[in-house]
Amino acid sequence: MSNSQRVFVAGHRGMVGSAICRQLEDWPGVELLTRSHAELDLTDQAAVEAFMRVERPDRVYLAAAKVGGIHANNTYPAEFIRDNLAIQTNVIHGAHIAGVRRLLFLGSSCIYPREAPQPIPEEALLTGPLEPTNEPYAIAKIAGIKLCESYNRQYGTDYRSVMPTNLYGPGDNYHPENSHVIPGLIRRFHEAKRAGAGHVTVWGSGTPRREFLHVDDMAAACVHVMNLDHVTYAEHTQPMLSHINVGTGEDLAIADLARLVARVVGFAGELRFDTSRPDGTPRKLLDVSRLAALGWKARIELEEGLSGAYAEFLERGGDRP
Ligand code: GDP
Repeated sequence: MSNSQRVFVAGHRGMVGSAICRQLEDWPGVELLTRSHAELDLTDQAAVEAFMRVERPDRVYLAAAKVGGIHANNTYPAEFIRDNLAIQTNVIHGAHIAGVRRLLFLGSSCIYPREAPQPIPEEALLTGPLEPTNEPYAIAKIAGIKLCESYNRQYGTDYRSVMPTNLYGPGDNYHPENSHVIPGLIRRFHEAKRAGAGHVTVWGSGTPRREFLHVDDMAAACVHVMNLDHVTYAEHTQPMLSHINVGTGEDLAIADLARLVARVVGFAGELRFDTSRPDGTPRKLLDVSRLAALGWKARIELEEGLSGAYAEFLERGGDRP
């Protein structure tokens, strides 16, 4: 990037948004534009449009969303669909009316059908029923991709989408019930170690398989995709199938993940599986060949990333709601 660019990161206090800001801080000629939730409520259409018209960013990273693990999605489905539809509609439309040429929308791998072929190619979108535990969230994210594609078709914008696999790392939510599996297990193993407990309970059967990507890798991928020239992006995508998977290309069983987290945290006791808790999708591994063809691959190994995540959890005093 040669001349100065005003880059708005929506959701800059979130896990991914803050990682994107860390990446962009070092880019010459990038002027970061951020607003806290208190300064700008992204579910407020008029406020978002006014902000966009005044600030006129050159580029927008849409990393703001209501997110959570399997339990949170199951408990607050109305908020998950409503808030996400509102945030993305307001930011995408606001960007359009302010003349923003390029935007990157961040989705999630849960957009894919529950029974999608593994690894999941981008083409699997809308080919079958979704996983019921997070269907409202997934529907909102699918709508976000289709918003970007529709604005591109009708208005000639260059709005792109990336679909990350399960993310973890600094800035994660360590809430005991509402978090995703890695922060949930880090907290539980840490507390068990501190209390000298003999066992730790892992939700579900331990057999579902998941792929995990460090959030710093995710942020690097976002900057990479955002900075691809228009022709290259268009060559590797289709107008109505424009999203790009972001992952490592490798997965593991939840039981193996739990053993790895136990080792990193230093808990030597027994693992017990609570099958009264939902397993969710049996497997969720992304096909990352589109992104590989565009010149990007993940760098941070899982064990190394987990050690860093645990160190950050300890630094933060071991809890943050
Ligand atoms: P998902 O990928 O959307 O299903 O999101 P999660 O990260 O919430 O869950 C992934 C898998 O880990 C599911 O099979 C959960 O049942 C399992 N799991 C095991 N222990 C935990 C835990 O402490 N918290 C969460 N959220 N999931 C857990």
